[in-house]
Amino acid sequence: MTLAEELSAALDELRRDSLERSLRLIESAQEAEVRYGGRDFVMLSSNNYLGLAAHPGLKRAAAEALARWGVGAGASRLIAGSLGPLHELEAALARFKGTEAALVFGSGFLANVGTISALCSPRDVVLSDELNHASIIDGCRLSRATVRVYRHRDPTHLKVLLEESAGARRRLVVTDAVFSMDGDLAPLETIVALACEYRASVMVDEAHAVGVFGPRGEGLGAELGVDKEIDVQMGTLSKALGAYGGYVAGSRALIDFLINRARSFIYTTGLAPALAAAAGAALKIVESEPERSRRLWENAAYLKEGLVALGFRIGPTASPIIPVMVGASETALSLSERLLARGIYVTAIRPPTVPPGTARLRVTPTAAHTREHLARALAAFAEAGRELGLVGGGSAGGTPAGGRGSAFPLR
Ligand SMILES: *Cc1c(COP(=O)(O)O)cnc(C)c1O
Repeated sequence: MTLAEELSAALDELRRDSLERSLRLIESAQEAEVRYGGRDFVMLSSNNYLGLAAHPGLKRAAAEALARWGVGAGASRLIAGSLGPLHELEAALARFKGTEAALVFGSGFLANVGTISALCSPRDVVLSDELNHASIIDGCRLSRATVRVYRHRDPTHLKVLLEESAGARRRLVVTDAVFSMDGDLAPLETIVALACEYRASVMVDEAHAVGVFGPRGEGLGAELGVDKEIDVQMGTLSKALGAYGGYVAGSRALIDFLINRARSFIYTTGLAPALAAAAGAALKIVESEPERSRRLWENAAYLKEGLVALGFRIGPTASPIIPVMVGASETALSLSERLLARGIYVTAIRPPTVPPGTARLRVTPTAAHTREHLARALAAFAEAGRELGLVGGGSAGGTPAGGRGSAFPLR
């Protein structure tokens, strides 16, 4: 068999198991509604939480930076020099996060991979939540450190692993703040206290928390008042901040060390200056327009309560990420397709992104959605759910669901 034949066979197998993925061409900007195949759809699958991805302020900042600084960064920032907009953004991020310094990476993925592999070596132990993001897992693997995976959100298990790893040179506890596919939260207060007791360091990935949690949108660490005890605060510019790129915030020593040792920072071209300018504009909007985050939470509560009332099984989320649990990949695909037929864009999330048998529709409203968008989505969910036998045939508001109540714990 040629390589192409082997790969085609592998793809056939994925298709048989309802696990094949493909790209859908979107013909508009990433807003509350998107255009696809010549029709408009309510987009409920993006991480554009605050509706900033196509915001005029971000576009203006990017356009101005484009005119002054051009498109490309030329080379690695250590080789061709480091452009002004990146320094401005790093100062703004450090101010926003209340840390001594910050460092921008090409993406959140690159930030995690480079940071974990720079901080840890084969003499070290990384303690990692079992549902951490793929980029954390890959960072752990690249570091060649011993990786001890603790049960999801389980500090008791983490404590056992800390006790067992006393001989390590360095121990790094790493966790998502908001788990990306379930929307539940890491017990950061307990994790920080355990790390202190066992002299371990803590790294938190705030990808889904920045702009969503915290008194000024700084993240979950700030919301819980433990941000000062987190050694490495990682985040992305590409979700609530609507741009692209990743960052790490922390001590000056941490940042200087990463500049010297993070391979995904050193051996890659600097972030495009226009993106840095757009992210800087987003930070200002996050701080000056808290009503965006309020609208996001209101929209999420409305949508979640509606889905629960319809009888859908919602995972134990405590964030605007609403996982509609389906189980089989085939059923998840079918639900997604039926919603699409009704003008609602929600992608099926299947293994290996989530554990086998836990396929779901991950529903994420944004601050930009109107009640009318969300009511349309609920009507479509009701019809599609009934067709698939996922919810009772009665009128909307019938069977109570297996969800965890309607209130978001922190709001
Ligand atoms: C999206 C995501 C990343 C990667 O961020 P990008 O900027 O999109 O590369 C890292 N961690 C988590 C938890 C994420 O959800």
